[in-house]
Amino acid sequence: ACERLYLGMDFGTSGARYALIDKQGTIHAERKRQYPQYMREETMDWARSWKTTLFSLLEDIPVHLRPHVASISLDGTSATTLIIDSVVSECITCSNTGEPLARPYLYNESCPDALPVVKSIAPVNHTVCSGSSTLCKLVSWWNNDNSDKTSTILLHQADWLLWLLHGQLGVSDYNNALKVGYDPELDSYPRWLLSQPYSRLLPVVKAPGTSIAHLKEDVRTLFGFSEDCIVCTGTTDSIAAFLAARATKPGKAVTSLGSTLAIKLLSTTRIEDARYGVYSHRLDDKWLVGGASNTGGAVLKEIFTDEQLEKLSEHINPMETSPLDYYPLKSVGERFPVADPKMEPRLHPRPESDVEYLHGILESIARIEAKAYSLLKDLGATQVEEVFTAGGGAKNDKWTRIRERVLGLPVSRATQTEAAYGAALLALKGAQLM
Ligand code: ADP
Repeated sequence: ACERLYLGMDFGTSGARYALIDKQGTIHAERKRQYPQYMREETMDWARSWKTTLFSLLEDIPVHLRPHVASISLDGTSATTLIIDSVVSECITCSNTGEPLARPYLYNESCPDALPVVKSIAPVNHTVCSGSSTLCKLVSWWNNDNSDKTSTILLHQADWLLWLLHGQLGVSDYNNALKVGYDPELDSYPRWLLSQPYSRLLPVVKAPGTSIAHLKEDVRTLFGFSEDCIVCTGTTDSIAAFLAARATKPGKAVTSLGSTLAIKLLSTTRIEDARYGVYSHRLDDKWLVGGASNTGGAVLKEIFTDEQLEKLSEHINPMETSPLDYYPLKSVGERFPVADPKMEPRLHPRPESDVEYLHGILESIARIEAKAYSLLKDLGATQVEEVFTAGGGAKNDKWTRIRERVLGLPVSRATQTEAAYGAALLALKGAQLM
């Protein structure tokens, strides 16, 4: 009767959700919320919107389940950054304290003004050498904002939301901290970063799913959570989505067939290759190697409706090799598994039969996927053994069979793909480590 439950929340680009699981991974409750649209000085007040959503999600959890929650974790979009004042204490009932000093920098926002500075201090091709990296956001704020910086601190979206729950200022995880320059292999910030004046704004970094503190008393009593409920470090949204698939052994991979094709492989070795945009996130003693191609469902969507995709797929014989060799792209340019900014989309010749055409496209995307895994192997990653599938293309069983033949591997649909579920698994991990 007093089974322990684990709460995960996902703060994605369009909305947030929670999943409440038990230690077997069974979902006891879940719900999605859209972000409310709060405006402030004619721009979207994201911080307020996320904060409101966080407490709405807690309210959505059935009252009788709340006392059973043993731990909480959550994920946010990677490189979404807040600069906050550490002397103002957060209070959930007074809405005007603890406000971020500047409006949050969103994941896809670019600060090109900071790029030359960042490039001059970071190693060549480092992850921070992109206008949208967290470090570029920090440097841009540091150089352009004239406010008093003595007690400021940088937090990622997930860190900030978790802080509203645990109250210990300045804690992050090494997945979120990668794009600010944290070195997950050394398990510290590198020297070139620590020598910068703004390095004192950087949060302390722990492994994802590490217990930080108990749930703050005011939150706990307001919602009826238990006294021993702990709050654990989180991760980024795409890593949480990988964790959801429970691909926990080296060689297990998740292919995401959404608008684009993205692959993530659990490896014992770390791979970084800027040419292909390939990089690795640390997951305890393993590495999550990832790469993203510009091919994928977006091209299918331009040609066929979802209904047509379903109907036409029924007539495909997945055991038959399609002779059609395409490279489906929405626009010119590919990064991975071929680094060619000038690559032209190739979708011709188009056969008379739409079934043959679709078969050719699905098989060509499968060949690109195979090439992607083989490139990771060539770059030194663990050999892929099994592929789980997420995204809109995962429901196409004919495509799964085609991919199985082309990859020469077992391919199946991931049972769980929600990032909130992955975050709940992190909460479970944190509670088990206690
Ligand atoms: P996003 O990356 O936008 O989140 P989704 O994971 O929702 O994408 O997947 C949407 C994509 O899935 C669309 O581009 C669509 O063409 C593709 N899709 C939908 N149904 C099928 C199907 N039956 N077979 C293959 N692809 C499909």
